[in-house]
Amino acid sequence: MLYTDRVLQEAIDKNPNEPEFHQAMTEILHTLQPFIDDNPKYEKARILERLVEPERQFIFRVPWVDDNGDIQVNRGYRVQFNSAIGPYKGGIRFHPSVSLSIIKFLGFEQIFKNSLTGLPIGGGKGGSDFDPKGKSEREVMAFCQSFMDEFYRYMGADQDVPAGDIGVGGREVGYMFGQFKRLTGLYTGAFTGKGIAYGGSLGRTEATGYGLVYMMENMLSTLGTNFSGKRVAISGSGNVAIYAAIKSAQFGAKVVTMSDSNGYVHDPEGIDIEAVKEIKEVRRGRISEYITYRSNAKYYENGLVWSAPCDIALPCATQNELLEDGAQELIKNGCIAVAEGSNMSTNLAATKMLQNNNIFFSPGKAANAGGVAVSALEMAQNSSRVAWSFEEVDYKLRNIMADIYNSSYATSEQYGMKGNLVAGANLAGFKKIAEAMLLQGAV
Ligand code: NDP
Repeated sequence: MLYTDRVLQEAIDKNPNEPEFHQAMTEILHTLQPFIDDNPKYEKARILERLVEPERQFIFRVPWVDDNGDIQVNRGYRVQFNSAIGPYKGGIRFHPSVSLSIIKFLGFEQIFKNSLTGLPIGGGKGGSDFDPKGKSEREVMAFCQSFMDEFYRYMGADQDVPAGDIGVGGREVGYMFGQFKRLTGLYTGAFTGKGIAYGGSLGRTEATGYGLVYMMENMLSTLGTNFSGKRVAISGSGNVAIYAAIKSAQFGAKVVTMSDSNGYVHDPEGIDIEAVKEIKEVRRGRISEYITYRSNAKYYENGLVWSAPCDIALPCATQNELLEDGAQELIKNGCIAVAEGSNMSTNLAATKMLQNNNIFFSPGKAANAGGVAVSALEMAQNSSRVAWSFEEVDYKLRNIMADIYNSSYATSEQYGMKGNLVAGANLAGFKKIAEAMLLQGAV
């Protein structure tokens, strides 16, 4: 049995009931096979066995008092997966679906993504099954403070630096950072995604969405084209989706769809992004309200967003949101390129279908790495007590995304899989992590 297959099987057996983690490991370990099998030093040093086992993971109780005076209890998670190249770095997700499996899949992906950025950050991820939807400001603050009452002991600027993810934006980061400061008495860059008024970086809010579009810019250039006049289907209407839509429109494309967990809107004339921002960022409403802004737009409750005709697809909502049925629609409608804004937007079968039908595909760990890259730039600014301009951060982001694209593409070519960015990104990310682990001995 091949080394990669054996480690994968053992890890699946050791961690039953963690389907998302199994899915992420399978995708990554399979693409590493040709490289690992040519380099027996990795097996000798048990690199894969160490990679799939988090350095540390913990689950904790998060009690808080709701507006009726009743006590609620949620579950908090943090998986500190790998610190070979820097302090653990990865977001916190608040969503009712959060489980250990989801946090482990995200943390595992994060190791490779952070390595790809070329910046000194390890991999981690955390979250809770708390649902911020429909909660009052006070309830959200009470929850965030209680979450930190436990988590603050295990984090810090040189140890573990969390950020936002689904359900965690500037508001939640602010409440958590405030509580961290109160408990530790330390004003350090222990969080990224902070408000500009207290140490946040200009450009961080936009970074994941803009970075995704910069990645697609590079992909389109390889295909000999660009965004101008293209129809872009975007799923989600949160942080990543909104800024991906804004940058796509700036590059001359027409964004034709956006969605949330209830349904999607199709506006063939081009989505009015200011309207979406008002619905989502100001009123915290539902995407269905969009049709009150634009009479020619249509709303599809529970519909498949990928059935709207498009040239480019940018999934920006959540994992496993673009499966075989969605891939089939994209192929049928002549879509030319897909880049994942969300982590693991597709499953293996859908990825293969897209690739086999000549749809140029970038996995999330390369395409959405702009967020964590600018988080690392926020850490650098905090450590040196400086603040860079928006233009400086955005310039660095665009270069980082080009570097990620170039190294993923070149690595795919080097191993005889030219243009397979899944394999290229996994291999490029792995090489640096493995090298660091080998140099640090059996840790
Ligand atoms: P937000 O919470 O801001 O937005 C999430 C969006 O996705 C919302 O529109 C939400 O709809 C929708 N969504 C969430 N869960 C589901 C679901 N189960 N089914 C359908 N729609 C869903 O999150 P972000 O924009 O920050 O994150 C989106 C994705 O991007 C995630 O996969 C995240 O891991 C990834 N990512 C984010 C980064 C960042 O910097 N924020 C960095 C790198 C990756 P609704 O309001 O109905 O829940």
